Amino acid sequence: MMTIGTHMSIAGGILQAAENVVKMGADTMQIFSRNPRGSGYRVYDKEEIEKFQALRRENGFGPLLAHAPYTLNLASGTEKTYEFACMVIREDVERMDKLGIENIVFHPGSHTGIGAEAGIRNIIAGLDMALTGKENIMVLLETMSGKGTEIGVSFEELKKIRDGVEHPEQIGICLDTCHVFAAGYDIVNDLDGVLDEFDRILGIDLLRAIHLNDSMMPFGSHKDRHAVTGSGEIGMDALLRVLDHPLLSGLPFYLETPLDDQGHKEEISRIREALAQKRNLSGGGKD
Ligand code: FE
Ligand code: FE
Ligand code: ZN
Repeated sequence: MMTIGTHMSIAGGILQAAENVVKMGADTMQIFSRNPRGSGYRVYDKEEIEKFQALRRENGFGPLLAHAPYTLNLASGTEKTYEFACMVIREDVERMDKLGIENIVFHPGSHTGIGAEAGIRNIIAGLDMALTGKENIMVLLETMSGKGTEIGVSFEELKKIRDGVEHPEQIGICLDTCHVFAAGYDIVNDLDGVLDEFDRILGIDLLRAIHLNDSMMPFGSHKDRHAVTGSGEIGMDALLRVLDHPLLSGLPFYLETPLDDQGHKEEISRIREALAQKRNLSGGGKD
């Protein structure tokens, strides 16, 4: 079985989002932990949370993922930006934990000139203010494409962040296929090599989620533009190998592709079909 879903809007509330997942034929979702560009958030009341949790249980959803706002920069050397980021990550870890979400992912941030070392120190300090060691939720660092002064373009940088925090047991990794490809990890021609490297540097057990995106931009371009699966530079065959890899196939996959709910519904069924076909072919052609 494969756990797959997409990024869903929570404009109509968390229960509505989960109902839309079911309609889509998906079995998980990613949601924003709050307004992605602003600072506003919704307070979920107890009744809504209970209905939402009942619905996800009845429909056998896999692990759910919250995404922190894009504007959050925990690596920033600018006081105001940094303090805002610290506050958001602290509040949203707590809020999403209460909501019963398994993982929250964030972009480590951009150092904007203070240097990667200083940026990483800021990220570590911010995480230490957010995590008490008592939360059930895991905080996932996302692999980044490396545009500008982005931190998280290499597995080594993510490792430094995790090693530096007081509660590393609460830190995992979310691998974004578009981002690692743009960062220069060749998941098209050498997926095994990339996963070996991940395992050697971070440990494969830390991998908790996959953002399954194709890339509009070429390999190693350090540009982050998602494409619909199969229509970008990574291509469907390579993405199917990701979905079907023995080290990855048990993980939840989240699409962040530029489509609406109807488009995502079709995309998911297209992926399921292609994967079934691939498995049939390889199963039938063994000798
Ligand atoms: Fe992301
Ligand atoms: Fe992503
Ligand atoms: Zn991206």
